[in-house]
Amino acid sequence: MDIREELACINQFAKTELTEEQVYVFSVRLCDNEVDRDFERFDTAALERLGELFVGKSGIFDHQWSAKGQTARIYRTEVVREEAMVTAAGDGYCWLKGWAYLLRTEKNRDLIAEIEGGIKKEVSVGCSMARSVCSICGAENGACGHVRGETYDGRLCFTELREPQDAYEWSFVAVPAQRNAGVLKRFEQSGGGSAVLEKQAALGRKYLTELRREVTRLAMLTDGDLDGQVFAKAMDRLEEPELVELKKAYEVRAAKKFPSAPQLRRKDAAERSDETVFLV
Ligand SMILES: [Zn+2]
Repeated sequence: MDIREELACINQFAKTELTEEQVYVFSVRLCDNEVDRDFERFDTAALERLGELFVGKSGIFDHQWSAKGQTARIYRTEVVREEAMVTAAGDGYCWLKGWAYLLRTEKNRDLIAEIEGGIKKEVSVGCSMARSVCSICGAENGACGHVRGETYDGRLCFTELREPQDAYEWSFVAVPAQRNAGVLKRFEQSGGGSAVLEKQAALGRKYLTELRREVTRLAMLTDGDLDGQVFAKAMDRLEEPELVELKKAYEVRAAKKFPSAPQLRRKDAAERSDETVFLV
């Protein structure tokens, strides 16, 4: 597409006709058909449908930017096929590419610089899917005894998420680029109508793991008599809200014990981006 065609697409969503000088255009990798760390994946048809659903949807940035009202909007999408690459499921790799635009305002200038600098590369998406299907036997919604991640007669068992119902949002993840990170799925079963399953994906899990590790570190820092292994095991049972509370409490104690511990503040700054991911 040349710039005039791109602008025509963009102007479908703009309140007033925008010119080439007024928009900053960039593309993002929204999601793909690779089996993820939770042994789930979207099927190729789902990517096509998600592509339709994401057109016109706004994307948000991390707290720092979204607080100032910065959003970008997807104005077109395309499923990119890379047949030379094979997924863990044994078929050709493909991914959903989205083109988005931002207004070139003074307010957005630093944000555009960050995107151009490659800092904000990963994207997470929120969507609802109607079906989840076992890759081994085709059973729906976990109705069989196959275990995800296990291999049966040389075939990997995973769950295939099919038939997207809606795409809610997408957001930039300001973490160092990591291959295939950042697909956050919210899985809703529409069959029964009421069952909603919140899916915690790789980055959310990574955030929890780091949070547990940090609480343990702080606890051991402030209490020299603590058995770290026992404490870490106890932390594994806690979920995010309790962990955040504990972290705050231990930070206060640590700050009292070590009045000028700079590593604590640095850690906080680094965690903010992960929190954003988790909240999506
Ligand atoms: Zn099965």
